[in-house]
Amino acid sequence: MSEARLQELKDRLIEIGSLNSAVAVLGWDQATYMPGGGAEMRGRAMALLEKLSHERFTDAAVGKLLDALEPYAESMPYDHDDAALIRLTRREYERSVKVPASFISQLSEHNSNLYMLWTRARPLNDFASLQPQLEKTLDLSRQLANFFPGYQHIADPLIDFSDEGMKAETVREVFAKLRQELVPIVRAITEQPPADDSCLRLTYPEDQQLAFGLDVIKDYGYDFERGRQDKTHHPFETRLSVGDVRITTRVKENYLADALFSTLHESGHAMYEQGTNPAYDGLPLGSGTSSGVHESQSRTWENIVGRSRAFWEHYYPSLQSVFPDQLGDVSLDTFYRAINKVEPSLIRTDADEVTYNLHVMLRFDFELQLLEGTLAIKDLPEAWHARYQSDLGVRAPDDRDGVLQDVHWFGGIIGGSFQGYTLGNIMSAQFYDAALKAHPEISAEIARGQFGTLHGWLKDSIYQHGSKYTASELLERVTGSGLQTEPLIRYLRAKYGELYSL
Ligand code: ZN
Repeated sequence: MSEARLQELKDRLIEIGSLNSAVAVLGWDQATYMPGGGAEMRGRAMALLEKLSHERFTDAAVGKLLDALEPYAESMPYDHDDAALIRLTRREYERSVKVPASFISQLSEHNSNLYMLWTRARPLNDFASLQPQLEKTLDLSRQLANFFPGYQHIADPLIDFSDEGMKAETVREVFAKLRQELVPIVRAITEQPPADDSCLRLTYPEDQQLAFGLDVIKDYGYDFERGRQDKTHHPFETRLSVGDVRITTRVKENYLADALFSTLHESGHAMYEQGTNPAYDGLPLGSGTSSGVHESQSRTWENIVGRSRAFWEHYYPSLQSVFPDQLGDVSLDTFYRAINKVEPSLIRTDADEVTYNLHVMLRFDFELQLLEGTLAIKDLPEAWHARYQSDLGVRAPDDRDGVLQDVHWFGGIIGGSFQGYTLGNIMSAQFYDAALKAHPEISAEIARGQFGTLHGWLKDSIYQHGSKYTASELLERVTGSGLQTEPLIRYLRAKYGELYSL
């Protein structure tokens, strides 16, 4: 009995997964190769597919199947695949039925229109033209949250979508604790003469930059038989299926670090998706769990590995041979200091590991204020400048490098988008500690350009499970404890203490 019902549930979910995969292809194309003229129709097509997907998922028949399968799920061990599938589908079903399909398509169409407007407005530094649309985003974000009444903070339901179990209050507490530790480190570093990163700011031809990045992520274990890299405005990773996980980057010929580290970053997201159990493909289990855990993986490969001394002991000679004119006379030491230069700066995605979380915290606070109604969209650009001034001591010359720099609010809801970045950094240090504890040889392997042990451990401990466990369950299983900021602080103190002789 339950076997036939489970099969029917899976068949339905796989169909919905196919619709979602089609949406992902359209979204990938929109952000890479689609000419601007295609925007309107693309917005409509994506909105329709998302609506169809939502309607199918919220079909009463799915609810009935879940009801009927409940006793079966309960009879199974908690970590049995079927039990996990039923549990996760139930959670998403209960959430989805609260949101009308018409709202989903309205939101989707609005998001893709605003995304295209943002790609045009940002280079022109034109926030004013986006203001009415962004006000609509805020309105839609509030509406979405209000489909889930009974929250403590209006951001709670939106945070819960991407970081299940987290609330504004919890995030605030964790951030306050981390901030208290970070600010003195930043101050101690900025009191010293800044590191010289001029070697990164020479001319680096695009093709060679891209080729070098691809070589590294091949060594990492990103599978090009099941992936590819293209160019975009704001780098991202997207999963179309377990056999097709794509990444994107952008290249600045006058700044070596942008494409390289964004490539390492997105490859971390992508290896997570490529490493999920193929049996979960197309099912809700089949992609990475919370956005925090996802980010922990991108930051591991970008920073903990990719900005480590050991890593560059292996790769620097080959980078020098690709760019002999630019780097031939630059020592490894100078280069290592340059890629780890700590400096309060304007752009989050370019920020160093120490100041990065301050960028995230201020966006998180803005999201809360906007949703609460204590900050209006029209006042956002100025509030942005003021907060950068007070938190980081810098002021962008314009909105292009101010409020317009991140794609998020211009292609998705306001709320629940940013906390995952810092939660990810916190978790990356916790997971990495656990990896080293299991395999102390990982550091020596990195210095030889070998990543098999680390990648294998991450795959076994995290990747293969997809969304089977929530972030806190996974942390508990893998590290034996809940969310803790100490490992990140320890990591930053050790690394930057040495770099800046603190
Ligand atoms: Zn990321």
